[in-house]
Amino acid sequence: MKEANKVKSTIRKNEFHIKKKFGQNFLTDENILRKISNVANIDENTLVIEIGPGLGSLTEFLLEKAGHLLAYEIDNDLIPILNKTFIGSNFTLINDDILARNIDEDINHLDFKYDKVTVVANLPYYITTPILMKCIEDSKYINEMVVMMQLEVANRITSKPSKKDYNSLSIAIQYKTVAKLAFKVPRTVFVPAPNVDSAIVYLRTKEDNTVKPINEKYFYQIVRSSFVQRRKKLSNNLNSVFGYDKTKVEDLLESLGYSRTVRAESLNVEDFIMLSDKLIDFKA
Ligand code: SAM
Repeated sequence: MKEANKVKSTIRKNEFHIKKKFGQNFLTDENILRKISNVANIDENTLVIEIGPGLGSLTEFLLEKAGHLLAYEIDNDLIPILNKTFIGSNFTLINDDILARNIDEDINHLDFKYDKVTVVANLPYYITTPILMKCIEDSKYINEMVVMMQLEVANRITSKPSKKDYNSLSIAIQYKTVAKLAFKVPRTVFVPAPNVDSAIVYLRTKEDNTVKPINEKYFYQIVRSSFVQRRKKLSNNLNSVFGYDKTKVEDLLESLGYSRTVRAESLNVEDFIMLSDKLIDFKA
């Protein structure tokens, strides 16, 4: 029997108690599971990292194609179930909080030569952003991610400038990756059903040689500060957060080819890199 079919009966028979605190919404729809594994382009040379395998319904589809699967699961109660279901040399299960791990060290410990590292996960929604940022910022090895998240977050991270969902998260993610919404997923395919709809997002990490700001930390600060009050002028936001002189900021914006009254939502990643590089020596 497919693991997806077993999820409902495992829960019904009280063999496993769902823990809301771990964001447990299990997938039971085989078509969706197959679609996710197809978006991921996995083959026998791919190392797949699954974050939160749960009762293993997605894991099973991924193991059909992957060379090796490294899974992180925080819930102790799921470990014996997963170990019983997936016995084999191409499955490594780590019982820990993904946010506490050094992913690249874990990869180095595997005895597997790969062409590509792909994260595939139905993410726990309460920590979607920290997980994405961790994978993007901390790992040198991850090439692609195919991840389920709340539709609202998916819209934000894939949004383009001047759209209503565009914000500092869009820029933080698009600075390091190319992000595309692959398909939407209705809440009805999960057990239990979450209160929101979801979507699968495909992210590909950009090559190392793409344009970078002089100071990455300052770039992130400028991006976040520029959006503190969305409807306000960029110069106002930089003035209220950093105390930068408004007229001087507006002169700079004008010299860079923007209107003096431009808002943060009009700037793309490259614009923010250029702006933060110019502002770096800026005195209030
Ligand atoms: N992959 C399964 C599926 O699609 O049916 C389960 C997905 S469920 C949305 C999220 C999973 O992530 C749960 O199994 C949960 O226990 C696990 N999880 C939650 N927080 C975690 C963390 N910090 N580190 C690792 N796993 C976590």
